[in-house]
Parts: sequence; structure tokens; C-alpha cells
Amino acid sequence: MTLNDHATALSEAPPVIERARLELKRRNLTIARSERLSDGMLRLHFTSEDLADFASLAPDDHIKLFIPNADGQPFMREYTPRRFDTAARTLIIDFAVHDAGPATSWALKAQAGDTIEIGGPRGSALLHGRIDHWLLIGDETAIPAIGRRIEEAAPGVTLTSVMAIAADEDRQSFEGRATHREIWVTRPVSDSANAQPLITALNQIELLPATFVWIAAEAKVAKAIRTYMTDTRGLPAGWFRASGYWQMGEPGAHMSID
Ligand SMILES: Cc1cc2nc3c(=O)[nH]c(=O)nc-3n(C[C@H](O)[C@H](O)[C@H](O)COP(=O)(O)OP(=O)(O)OC[C@H]3O[C@@H](n4cnc5c(N)ncnc54)[C@H](O)[C@@H]3O)c2cc1C
Repeated sequence: MTLNDHATALSEAPPVIERARLELKRRNLTIARSERLSDGMLRLHFTSEDLADFASLAPDDHIKLFIPNADGQPFMREYTPRRFDTAARTLIIDFAVHDAGPATSWALKAQAGDTIEIGGPRGSALLHGRIDHWLLIGDETAIPAIGRRIEEAAPGVTLTSVMAIAADEDRQSFEGRATHREIWVTRPVSDSANAQPLITALNQIELLPATFVWIAAEAKVAKAIRTYMTDTRGLPAGWFRASGYWQMGEPGAHMSID
């Protein structure tokens, strides 16, 4: 199939994005357990009666963590609800470990019994329409949303994920009933603002018709991959969502790139 064929096949009817609103609520959570998945990833298990009515409708939803600050004005950072169970009143958040800002250093020190306030999710982007295949691209900060997308996909859905990590031991395994092909791209942390390792891996991937491409990584990386997908691979508008989940050298920064 040529690039033009891809564009024609993909441009027929892009999915429609519905912005679903949720009641914006603050909740107080207690850490039940801290689990080191690998050098690069830390998982915190939270519990709280406040989670009885927690809702998160899309895998790329986010919540705000209010990180305590000596000044009294908390730092706010965004994280993905990786997994939750309202009946059991539990929530899991995975933290990519990097040169610590307030959220990362708080998570690294956190112990069972510690508490934190969260807000949201305030809404979800729900995709409606024909999507035959997902191409999920991201760095460590995107793995929680990618993992959730894979695990929540219905049987018959096919997904390909291309994920950048610092070491082979940072690979994760995902559960789920959909058909999933995973490609791990190992590059040093010092290259986390360099799109080339991911683009080199993407060069080997065929873009199937009716593929929705989801991208989240450092802002410049996400932008470069979005441009590569549209300009080099012929991906038309409406078939992707790209976000800068963090910005090199800019604490607390993130951006939508669509
Ligand atoms: C919608 C959304 C969902 C997200 N979900 C997750 C998630 O589930 N798990 C997760 O780990 N992150 C997630 N992130 C990214 C996370 O919010 C940022 O990495 C955040 O900046 C970390 O906060 P911090 O206080 O540790 O560092 P900051 O104070 O924000 O930054 C301190 C310094 O570290 C740098 N930095 C920030 N993040 C990284 C990084 N990942 N690697 C290397 N350097 C970095 C900054 O450029 C800055 O120079 C998400 C972001 C968004 C927008």
C-alpha cells in the first residue's frame, strides 16, 4: 500500500471526539503500598472511601496531584489513573522516575499511610466511529495511559504500541483481551527529548487503514512525531491525538499539540 493509499483509506471518516464532563471533585487518598516496578517506574497503590464514586471514562484521562509544599501552596502535577476499582476503593498511579521534581520526589519518598489530595478527572475525550487499529506511541510518562488502553480494549481490537524506555528492565507486561503488538525502544534518559529513536522504530511500522494514532511524550518529541506521521506517513487530520506530557527544562509544563 502506498502513502497515498493510506491517506485515502484513512481520510474517509475520522472518529468524532466527544468531550465528556465529570463532576470536578477533590479526594483525599491514603497510600496502601509502594511498589518499585523497575528502576524507571514506581507504582503507588492508594485507598480511600472517597474513591467510592471515582470515575474515569477514557484511558488517557488525568488527575491532578496536589503535592504538599513547605510554602503552603501545593505543586500541581498531572498523572494518569492507571487502574481503579470503586468497589474496592482503590486507585493505582505509576510514576516515571526521573531527575526529581516535586511529584517524583514525593512519590519516591511516599510510604504506606501517607496521604495526598487529588482532583479530577474533570473530563474525558471519548472517540466514536470506526477505528480498526490503534498505534500508541510514547515515552515512560505515556506508558500508564497506553497500558490502560491496551487492557481496556475489547476483543477483536488490534493495537500496536511503540514505547521509549531507558533500559530493558523497564518493559512492562499488559493484560487484556485485544490483540496487541508491543515494540520497546531503548534509549538513554538523556535522549528523552530526542524524537529520533521513536521515529526510527516507526519507520518499520506499516500504517494500516483506519488506524488512530495516539502520541504522548516530551513536548518537542510529541510534536516531531505528529509531524512525521502527518507529513511523512500521510496521516490525515482527525486520525491522531498528540500531547506533550512534559517539557524539557520547564517544571509542571504540558501541552496539547493537535
Ligand atoms: C495528561 C497527563 C498525564 C500524565 N500521566 C503521567 C503518568 O501517569 N505517569 C508519569 O510518570 N507522568 C505522567 N505525566 C507527566 C508528568 O505530569 C510530568 O512528568 C511532571 O512534570 C512530573 O512532575 P515533577 O514534579 O516530578 O517534575 P517537574 O517539576 O514538572 O519538572 C522538573 C524537571 O524535570 C523535567 N521532567 C519532567 N518530567 C520528566 C520526565 N518524565 N523525564 C525527564 N525529565 C522530566 C522537567 O523538564 C523539569 O526540568 C502526565 C502528564 C500529563 C499532561
